[in-house]
Amino acid sequence: MAIRQLRYIGDPILRKKSKEVTEINDRIRTLLDDMLETMYEYEGVGLAAPQVGILRRVVVIDIGEGPIKLINPEIIYEEGEFTDVEGCLSIPNRAGTVKRPEKVKVKYLDENGEEKIIEGTGLLDKALCHEIDHLDGILFIDKMIEEIVPEEEEE
Ligand code: ZN
Repeated sequence: MAIRQLRYIGDPILRKKSKEVTEINDRIRTLLDDMLETMYEYEGVGLAAPQVGILRRVVVIDIGEGPIKLINPEIIYEEGEFTDVEGCLSIPNRAGTVKRPEKVKVKYLDENGEEKIIEGTGLLDKALCHEIDHLDGILFIDKMIEEIVPEEEEE
């Protein structure tokens, strides 16, 4: 495994649409492992392939309940809405509120090519929506309702 170079806001690759994965091979599995290692290194809860410069529909998430690897993830159901604060490893030092569905179901392929469905609420829902947006070149600041200015530290 290896830590990959993160792409930051202003890099045009973050605005491009990622391509579907048509063949799950060792290259894709290595990408998934590298993305997880990179995400843990930077203490994120999710990472999408464009954030490491690869325009493929690949996402990793770990909200503290173990790693999830998603290939070609697609939201197939959503209900309700809730607003919460988000940040992004590609947009350092910024955070803001974003409205998301309260619950989503996402269809994806795992690293063995098996079709699976994951259901998410709360932090997992937020991570799924945020990372899938990355695959379409959408960043949370595009949907941001209000920017949260970090409080100044007391002396
Ligand atoms: Zn992000």
